Amino acid sequence: MSDRFGKEDFKLGFGLMRLPKRADGSNDTEKVAEMVDRFIEAGGTYFDTAFVYDDGDSERVTKEALIDRHPRDSFTLCTKLNAGIPGLTEQTAKQQFHTSLERTGAGYFDYYLLHALSRNNVRYYEDFGIWDFVKEQKAKGLIRYYGFSFHGDPQLLDELLTEHDDVDFIQLQINYADWDNPGVASKECYEIARRHSVSMTIMEPLKGGALADPNDNIKRLFKEAAPELSAASWGIRYAASLEGVIAVLSGMSSIEQMEDNLSYMRNFKPLSESEYKVIAAVQKELEKDNSIQCTACKYCVSGCPMDIAIPGIFAVKNKETGNWDGGRGAYQIATEGRGKASDCIECGQCEDACPQHLPIISLLKDCANLE
Ligand code: SF4
Ligand code: SF4
Repeated sequence: MSDRFGKEDFKLGFGLMRLPKRADGSNDTEKVAEMVDRFIEAGGTYFDTAFVYDDGDSERVTKEALIDRHPRDSFTLCTKLNAGIPGLTEQTAKQQFHTSLERTGAGYFDYYLLHALSRNNVRYYEDFGIWDFVKEQKAKGLIRYYGFSFHGDPQLLDELLTEHDDVDFIQLQINYADWDNPGVASKECYEIARRHSVSMTIMEPLKGGALADPNDNIKRLFKEAAPELSAASWGIRYAASLEGVIAVLSGMSSIEQMEDNLSYMRNFKPLSESEYKVIAAVQKELEKDNSIQCTACKYCVSGCPMDIAIPGIFAVKNKETGNWDGGRGAYQIATEGRGKASDCIECGQCEDACPQHLPIISLLKDCANLE
């Protein structure tokens, strides 16, 4: 692994996608600032945001909680350009870079990614000349390391790494639940990245938080193996144990989650052979799970012409226990003032945007029974 990325012994990255909220639903900048301070004090340096996170509010919070309050050389910042948003032109896609610089006030980006590449959007990055544009910014010193985050199939990853063999790093979705999941193909993508000798950052090590709170059978397996460790620790350490990984991004939303993450990532120890056996037992248990595998990333939401709260509806569906009144109440809260599952006009925009490749249209039909 390259040593040019700095700290080899502190692989926890601070993901700024799922920020703590105030009672009114807005992002709680003060709480983020408190977490930022704790993270840096503990030795953390890597912060990860994106132009699209929270419609730009993540970058604003990053400025106020991190950039305005800490010396610029005491941390590294990653953000991302998303050319796949419906309706963009070459100019508006490129403008994202300048807007991100303005919003964050960072001066330059340590890491910059073409965001969420897949077969559904890769043509926009080509057609708009984004690869060359990003390299121009790097030549100007406005980007230190560039690459792409990836949600496509292994063959596409191989093609991209062959064609763009000068990328400094890539970001992959890797967790033990998706290791052999054909829709995500964590294992195959990881192996291709290793064949191309490219360094990686890891996103979704806890699958949008789902692996931090697994079902009771899985919790029991973890507790029997190590009563003192959280379920989250297994997912984060699983990703961090892989060779070639420079940072595992954890979307920490509270000081408690951060303290938990820090407790096993400050003096990180890779999983042992016996711990891998526990993971294998958990993976077997997960085969029985038929819940909707939505990570609540919200990439599907902004392009929906019916303004359907897709991840919120799926969360309610996953919690449905046959208690129809309870399920209906939660559904009404999740969809208040928004489109309902039955309002879907099957335009397909959401399915093109979904990094988990979920069959959203048919899943919404299943959810309509909650109305
Ligand atoms: S297919 Fe349905 S849910 Fe998806 S974007 Fe179109 S209207 Fe919205
Ligand atoms: S349905 Fe897909 S795109 Fe939408 S929030 Fe869930 S995982 Fe993200």
